[in-house]
Amino acid sequence: MKELILEMEDYAQEKNVPIIEKKSIAFIMKYIKDNNVKNILEIGSAIGYSAILMASSTPDVFVTTIERDEERYMECLKNVKKCGLDKKINVVFQDALDVFLSEDLKYDLIFIDAAKGQYMKYFEKYKYFLKDNGAIITDNLKFHGYVGKKDKIESKNLRGLVEKIENYIEFLKDNKEFDTSFYDIGDGLSVSKWKNEK
Ligand code: SAM
Repeated sequence: MKELILEMEDYAQEKNVPIIEKKSIAFIMKYIKDNNVKNILEIGSAIGYSAILMASSTPDVFVTTIERDEERYMECLKNVKKCGLDKKINVVFQDALDVFLSEDLKYDLIFIDAAKGQYMKYFEKYKYFLKDNGAIITDNLKFHGYVGKKDKIESKNLRGLVEKIENYIEFLKDNKEFDTSFYDIGDGLSVSKWKNEK
């Protein structure tokens, strides 16, 4: 398992696949243990690095992870099988904004880690699948240090993306339904919970 994780880190670096920072996944794994998390929904699997680590946090946690890129989806499936976690991880090959989930199953944890410009859409779509005491964790809120420094960015595309992340942060801060804590860990994380745990 440790070897596979190292292999995945090398693969991600070689092929330029963005994966979560070590400190951030350690924070999430601790959250899973401390909060008795059983069901996780991940938006953005890439090659399965975070899904595999989350699924191996405790013996009885189950992860559904969604990926829209075919090559990464296939690599994710391969990695999940290799480490024998195929009974604990369900990999879905689809755009997360098109996925239809049954409302019968609600999640203890929803981890948003896909296209940064769509964070608000994922949040609004998937909040209905969050348990009353569940949490939505979002990664990359610092976006490699660019967030808060929009005016210094020359590329129009990058500036637009950073603006969307800044808007998402404001959306979380002003949200009437959720309380959000922000953590200066890795590339910046947030944990959002229903106000008054409904
Ligand atoms: N969570 C992964 C990890 O830490 O190992 C990293 C995920 S990577 C930052 C983001 C992934 O989200 C990419 O592989 C990308 O193809 C995928 N993605 C982007 N937008 C998506 C969408 N709308 N639906 C599904 N996957 C998406």
